[in-house]
Order: sequence, then C-alpha cells, then structure tokens
Amino acid sequence: MTSPDASRTDTGCTAVLNAGSSSIKFALYHGADALLFRGQIERIGAGPRLTAHDAAGRSVAEQSWPALDHRAATREIVRVVAELSAGTPVTAVGHRVVHGGTHYAAPVRIDAGVMEKLAALIPLAPLHQPHNLEPIRAIAEHAPHLPQVACFDTAFHRSQAPVAQAFALPRGLSDEGVRRYGFHGLSYEFIAARLREIAPGIAQQRLIVAHLGNGASLCAMHGGQSVASTMGFTAVDGLVMGTRCGAIDPGVILYLLDQHHMDARQIEDLIYRRSGLLGVSGIASDMRTLRASAAPAAGEAIALFVYRIVREIGSLAAALGGLDGLVFTAGIGENDAATRQAVAEGCGWLGVALDAARNAAGSGRISAEPSRVAVWVVPTDEERMIARHTVATLARETG
Ligand code: ADP
Repeated sequence: MTSPDASRTDTGCTAVLNAGSSSIKFALYHGADALLFRGQIERIGAGPRLTAHDAAGRSVAEQSWPALDHRAATREIVRVVAELSAGTPVTAVGHRVVHGGTHYAAPVRIDAGVMEKLAALIPLAPLHQPHNLEPIRAIAEHAPHLPQVACFDTAFHRSQAPVAQAFALPRGLSDEGVRRYGFHGLSYEFIAARLREIAPGIAQQRLIVAHLGNGASLCAMHGGQSVASTMGFTAVDGLVMGTRCGAIDPGVILYLLDQHHMDARQIEDLIYRRSGLLGVSGIASDMRTLRASAAPAAGEAIALFVYRIVREIGSLAAALGGLDGLVFTAGIGENDAATRQAVAEGCGWLGVALDAARNAAGSGRISAEPSRVAVWVVPTDEERMIARHTVATLARETG
C-alpha cells in the first residue's frame, strides 16, 4: 500500500490563495481534493494575525505582526505553506480573481499577457482586483517557474443569456463593459458540482442557490448552469449584505451627490462599508450578534435582509419559469436556521415547506416530504473549487 506521504511526493501540492482587501485566505491540497491545511492572515494593515488549521481542525500555525502590507503578507504565507508542507513541493498555485470580464468564461494559466488583461479590468472592480493581482505578482517574482492559475468569480455566470446580462443603458456603455457580470461564481460552481454527487435528481433542474455570508447573492441555475443572479456590475448589487446596501434606486446616488455633496469615495464608503445589516441595525454586520441582540433595530435589519431575499427569489423563479430546488449556503445559509425558516415561509406560495427538525439539524435535505420544492443546505468550498480548477487547467495544458 502506498503511504499518503509517498503519494504526496508523486503529484505535489496545490496551494490556493484568496486575497481580499483586509485578509488573505490560503489552503494547501494534495492534488486537487485532499485538504492538508487551510488558514488566513486577517486584519492586514491593522494588527495582522495568521491562523492555520489542518483537515481535522487542529491548529497548526499562529502568528501576529505589528504591521504587514499585502506583499509582505503573501511572503509570510509562502513561508508558512513551505514549512507546513514539510518538503513536499508546491507544484501549482490557484488564485481567486474577482473579475474575468467578458473575456474569461473559464480559469486560465497566468502569463504576462493574461496579467495585462486582468490589470485592464481593475476599473471594473477597483476594490478587489488589485488585491487579487498583488500575490500573483509577488509569487511570480519569488518563483517565476511555478505555474499559477486565475479562477474567476464572474466566469460561472457567462452562460447567462444576453438579456440577463444587459442594463437598459445606451449601447456604447454596454460595449465598454457596463453590464451585469454576477459574482460568487466559484461558490455556485462548487454547489452545482456537489449537488450532482448528493442530489442528482435535482442538480439539473430549476434551482435557486442562496449564498448568504458577509457578501450575499442568489443564483438561478438550470442544467447546472447560471441563468441569472442578483449581483450585477459590481458585488454591491442585489441582496442586503453585512455592510453593503444591495440594490437601491440609482436616484439615491444622485440625491447624495446633490444634497449631501458627497464624492465618489464617500458614496463608495457608504454603500460598501456602512450600509446593509450594519447600517440598518446600527449595531453590527454579523448575523450572530444581531440574533443575540434584543434591540428592535437588530430585528428590523434581519427582517429587511429576509424580505429582500424573498422578493429576489420571486424574481429569479420568474426568470427560471418555475422552481424545483432551493439551496442555502455560506455562513448564514449554512448556520442560521431562523433565516432559512423565514425565507421558506416567504416562499410558501412557490411550494416551499421546511421540515422543522431537519431545518434545525441544518444539513442535507431540509424540506418537508410534501414540499413541491426540494430545499437543501449544502456547505460551500470556494478554495476546493479553485484547487480543482488549477489542477484541471494545468492537466489540459500538458495534454
Ligand atoms: P464571508 O462572506 O466573509 O466568507 P461567511 O460565509 O463566513 O462570510 O459568513 C459570515 C456570516 O455568517 C456572518 O454574518 C456570521 O454571523 C454568519 N454566521 C456564521 N455562523 C453563524 C451561526 N452559527 N448562526 C448565525 N449566523 C452565523
């Protein structure tokens, strides 16, 4: 029998980096699917701290620094990954890149030409794309021959019909890239793949997947492909989120410019960082904190969060022409039974009915037997999706 360590040396490891504005998450897999460990550096710029756990959840690394920038944080992650992989070579690195524009409908191996195209997309995602590209550059300098693959949050949605991707703006603006892209694509793709394994009966049917985390969106899928989504040109559109407002009348932006004399950066700060559950409650962006609060404003924020989900489910069910399955995922979707219950009640007219005990248990199928719509809780795993894409993209290249 081959020992796990011996097989590790055969194929090497795949590292995954998911770089955000204040954190970099990382994971290491043997090949595409066997998790060795995962971790993150949080609070980059304000007391950064690294934590990492092995596949069984045991802590394997912990460290703090007075300060780090993104580049230095990447260097620390490269060092920790090398230490923890204990000499097994890292043979590829996969990155989450928020924007692939209209060009990339699939992951791509990164070279200088690809980097140029990805940098050209910065104006479409100025808050995220630069952070995603920074570790790619840092690793290319540190290890120029290590293959790197970009996996896009937008790619999964390129299957949507043109009408689902369009705004009713003058054509010149659409041609320049002002259109609906959709995000959270790696999460939706993972869920689509997982459903094929655990619920093949509904995997190809008309589904709405609710990714409810700090960022939140819905995706309508048919045949395992994206048909429509609530996020549009940017990841601020659609549902109420932790600190983002979701869809608002564009007239509100004009009002803020005219009456409050706000500039673009101030409006950005308002709609991305001071709105959503935080803005409405005045208490917190975190669902657990709001659930624990007796303040009426906490309940009002949750009620608005749920109301918007229910309304958007109605809209996506119309885009699908009916609904066969509803799937909850991400921090709130996987853990907050009360949100799932409230959403299901709002969707009773569509034929959604939960089994209270299964919903409280919170895994697998949670709908009642007579429910016309099958309801599931399926944990998402964007890092694993990136590892799979990275291995598959490089395997395709080498034939
Ligand atoms: P991110 O979008 O940053 O990846 P997550 O998917 O981790 O976010 O989701 C974070 C959200 O999930 C927070 O609002 C958090 O309160 C919520 N959450 C996590 N665990 C629970 C729980 N047990 N009950 C209710 N909400 C939870």
